[in-house]
Amino acid sequence: MSGGKLITGFAVTATSHTLGEYRARGGYQALERALLGMKPEEVTGEITASGLQGRGGAAFPVGRKWSVIRPDDGETHYLCANADEGEPGTFKDRWVLENAPHLLLEAMLIASYALGVRHSFVYIRGEFDLAYRRLAGAVEEAYGAGLFGKDIFGSGFSCDVFVVRGAGSYVCGEASALITSIEGKKGYPRNRPPRLTVRGLYQKPTVINNVETLANIPWIIAHGAQAYRTFGTTKSPGTRLVSVSGHVTRPGVYEVEHGYPVGRFIHEDCGGVLGGRALKAVIPGGISTKVLTASEIEPHRLGHFGDCEDRRVLPQSAGIPHLEPLVFEGESLQAAGSSLGSGGMIVIAEGTCMVRVLQVMLRFYHHESCGQCTPCREGMGWLHRIVDRIVSGRGRPEDVDRLYEISRANDGTTICGLGDAAGYATVGILDKFRCEFEYFIAHGRSRYDGCLECLGSS
Ligand code: SF4
Repeated sequence: MSGGKLITGFAVTATSHTLGEYRARGGYQALERALLGMKPEEVTGEITASGLQGRGGAAFPVGRKWSVIRPDDGETHYLCANADEGEPGTFKDRWVLENAPHLLLEAMLIASYALGVRHSFVYIRGEFDLAYRRLAGAVEEAYGAGLFGKDIFGSGFSCDVFVVRGAGSYVCGEASALITSIEGKKGYPRNRPPRLTVRGLYQKPTVINNVETLANIPWIIAHGAQAYRTFGTTKSPGTRLVSVSGHVTRPGVYEVEHGYPVGRFIHEDCGGVLGGRALKAVIPGGISTKVLTASEIEPHRLGHFGDCEDRRVLPQSAGIPHLEPLVFEGESLQAAGSSLGSGGMIVIAEGTCMVRVLQVMLRFYHHESCGQCTPCREGMGWLHRIVDRIVSGRGRPEDVDRLYEISRANDGTTICGLGDAAGYATVGILDKFRCEFEYFIAHGRSRYDGCLECLGSS
């Protein structure tokens, strides 16, 4: 099995999200410990020592982000929990919101104490219904028990929380867009610097942490940083919540210790590829992370590049295939040219048309571009229309090179990461599955169309 369970280690029942059951599991004891036994800077020091990294995608060290804020500088500070989980394939924060909303609230109180925050915010994805209702119910329970408001546990520390619902924009999960949305403006990302920890919500220093990131904090304060470091690896302590979807026998949310082999996770923990098919590829951390082929995940086990002969000659941009089995750790994924991203793993079986996979991804990016930056606004439409044309059987020989050109034009030229991410994702698929695009263009159909073996899998 995939190791320690620091967040999901309790039985989910119809009432396990309630305050009574959360307290019965030891909930809010870490808060009491922090408020009555630690100074704010000691809390930040413990989080820094734990090596906790952000789980929203960037993997930035949490302690370093918090250390920018001086809790006693007389300034107003804000904390925002980013619960606007919108990356396709990612649904692990939703698990926390639905099943352990008090874990998030306790974490926010501890973080608010460490950062000198009086008013905190949860920005929750508008489409989340059960998650919102559970969170709103938990906030009510917590206020009723005196866990929010004035003089919590008689410590003199006071804190309020506000839950803000998004309106369905993917880009509002980007930190600066999230802030402008909370302020009641159109949720546009903005250029940085200034960083949000210097000038964030209402122009005040603001820390934004992802839901899963925050969910680790009560455990760290309750057990200590050194105990936390006994899980995972030296460079990536702790666990990851991974939401698994696609062609997999047991999709769902799993808690996986850093360092656990990705191939073993898919074949054993998740029950293997759906229908006993061979593994073709995996998008490891949401669609904005580069796709990995089966041979990149388990080079020792497979020793081939799947069903596309042309992949035996990888272009230079695909990098040198690594030989170690891939594990859940930032460095391992980076060595393979991808990342853990937001923890949303999409499993793709042999027989799946990667041209159509890219078409679905580009439809999403095109729809979600906010339109501020020309390369993103125009580029997403161009990419999407070219792949649509290929899928309709009217592809042109120059289309693959054009997809590369447009993707690279986005690199580093946009305000937020959406433009970059769409380009990386496109290049990642083209590098490894170029032959499928060329086949589609040459024959006017997918190489898998009409293949009886592949029916039902693409
Ligand atoms: Fe908007 Fe795209 Fe620019 Fe991001 S990169 S700010 S989504 S136009």
